[in-house]
Amino acid sequence: MKKIPDAIVIDGQLRTEASGGWLELVEPATEQKWCKVPAAGKEEVEETINAANEAFVQAHWAKASPTVRAGVLLKLAKLIRDNVESLAVLESRNVGKPICSSRAEILSGAGCFEYYACAITKFYGKTIPLAEQSLDYTLRVPVGVVACIVPWNFPFLMACWKVAPALVTGNAVILKPASLTPLTALRMGELAMEAGIPAGIFQVIAGRGSEIGNYLVSHRLVRKISLTGETSTGAQIMKLAADDIKRVSLELGGKSPNVIFDDANVVKAAQAAPLAVFDNTGQDCCARSRVLVQRPIYDKFLDEFVKATKQLKIGPPLDDSTQIGPMVSAHQRESVEAYINLAREEGGRILCGAERPIDKGFYLSPTIIDGLDSRARTCQEEIFGPVACVIPFEDEADAIELANDTAYGLSASVWTQNLGRAHRVAEAIEAGVISVNTNSSVYVEAPFGGFKKSGIGRDLGMEALMQYTELKNIFVSLKED
Ligand code: NAD
Repeated sequence: MKKIPDAIVIDGQLRTEASGGWLELVEPATEQKWCKVPAAGKEEVEETINAANEAFVQAHWAKASPTVRAGVLLKLAKLIRDNVESLAVLESRNVGKPICSSRAEILSGAGCFEYYACAITKFYGKTIPLAEQSLDYTLRVPVGVVACIVPWNFPFLMACWKVAPALVTGNAVILKPASLTPLTALRMGELAMEAGIPAGIFQVIAGRGSEIGNYLVSHRLVRKISLTGETSTGAQIMKLAADDIKRVSLELGGKSPNVIFDDANVVKAAQAAPLAVFDNTGQDCCARSRVLVQRPIYDKFLDEFVKATKQLKIGPPLDDSTQIGPMVSAHQRESVEAYINLAREEGGRILCGAERPIDKGFYLSPTIIDGLDSRARTCQEEIFGPVACVIPFEDEADAIELANDTAYGLSASVWTQNLGRAHRVAEAIEAGVISVNTNSSVYVEAPFGGFKKSGIGRDLGMEALMQYTELKNIFVSLKED
C-alpha cells in the first residue's frame, strides 16, 4: 500500500487525476507543503452519483443478507486494525492531532464497523396486531444513494460513524471528506475495495465543499445527506435538500457547558476540565468551552483549572507524550486569535495562554478567560479552538439558566456529589449528550447528536440505523374471497 494516498475512489477505480485540479495539503506542525490529492470536479461528482445509483438499483448489496454485508464490514474493520499505525500517522500529520489521539480514533473507527456489523442482525421490523384476519408488519429498507460529508477535526472517526451504518443497511454511499483533511478517508476507500465492498457501493471523492458540495447535495439521485460540519453549512444543506424533500441528518456546532457545583470533587473536576475543552486543540464540537462554576468554589476551581492547563504538554503531533498539537491551519488559528482579541474588548481577563508557544507550526496555547458576561459574543459563538470562558453561578436554577443560554445544544457535563441534583440538572439541560462526574460522553453504542442549532438526527447507537433506512408498513388482508 502506498504511503500517502493520492487517488480518489470512483466506481471501483483509483483515479490519480480529476477535473477539479489538486488539493495541496500543508502539514500543520511544520507549515510546509506536504502532498497533493486530486480534487473531484462536477464531472467526477456526476460520475460517482451515477455509479452509486446503478449499484444501488442492481441491488446486489441491498438484497444481500445482513450477515453477508456484516461479514464485509468485519473484513474492513480488520484491515483498519491491521493498518492502525499508518492510518494514525496520516491523520496526525494531516490534522496536527497528537498520535495517541489518532491511534485511539482509528481503533474506535474499526470498533464502529464492528458494532454495526453485529447490530444489523438485530435490526428488524415489527408485527402490529390489527383487525381479525389481517397481518400488519413493518420493514426497514435502505434509502438509496447517501452522501456522507465530514469535517476536518475528526476526519476518520466521523467518516466511520456515518459510513458504517449507511453501508450495513444496504445503501450506496459517497464519502466526501473536508478539503483540508482527505487522506484517511481516501485510504478508507482503498481498504474498502480490498475488503470486497462492491464498486459503486462505496466511493470517496475529495474536493472543495464550495465547488462540488452544492452539486452533490442538490443532485436528484442523492436521496439522503448526512453532514457533520458547521451550523451555517447545515442550514445551507437543508435549503438545498428542501425541493426534493431529501432526508438530512446534521451534526453541527456546539458551545457546551461544563457545570461544576460546590458539592463536587473540585480537584477532580478541575483536573478533568482542561481536556474537556482543549483536547484536539479545542477543535471539537463537544468542547466544554463554557465552564460554569458555583460561587463558593469559584476561586479554588479557577486556580486548579489554570494550574492543570499550564501542565498540558504542547508539542509535535508524532511525539507520544504530546497532549496538545497545532491547530489545523493558519486560517483557523487566526480566527481563534481574533476571538481572543474580541474577549479582551468585551472586558475578559486572560488567565493563561493566548500565545504562539512554538515558532513553526500553527500552535496556540490553551487560553482561559473570565470576567465575561454570558451574553458576550465570546461566550455565545463557537470559537472552535483552545479557548474556555469561566462564568460563576449562584444556585441550581441559575446554573440551568446559564447552561441553556446558548443557541446550541450538543453536549454538557455536570459535576456534583448530589445524586438527585445530578439527574435534575442533566434532564434540564437542553443538549443531546450529557456526562456526569466525567468528561466521557461518547460511545458507539449510545446515540450522539444535538438539540437546537447543534443538529437534527443522531449518529451512533441503534438510532443511526434508523437514519439510513425508510420505514415501510405493509397491511395484508387474510380473508378468503
Ligand atoms: P464545514 O461546515 O466548513 O465543512 C464540513 C464539510 O462540509 C466539509 O467536507 C466541507 O467541504 C463540506 N461543505 C461545505 N460547504 C458545503 C456545501 N455547500 N455543500 C456540501 N458540502 C459542503 O465544517 P468544518 O470547518 O470542516 O468543521 C468544523 C465544524 O464541524 C464545527 O462547527 C464543528 O462544531 C462541527 N462538528 C460537529 C460535530 C458533531 O458531531 N456535532 C463533530 C465534528 C465537528
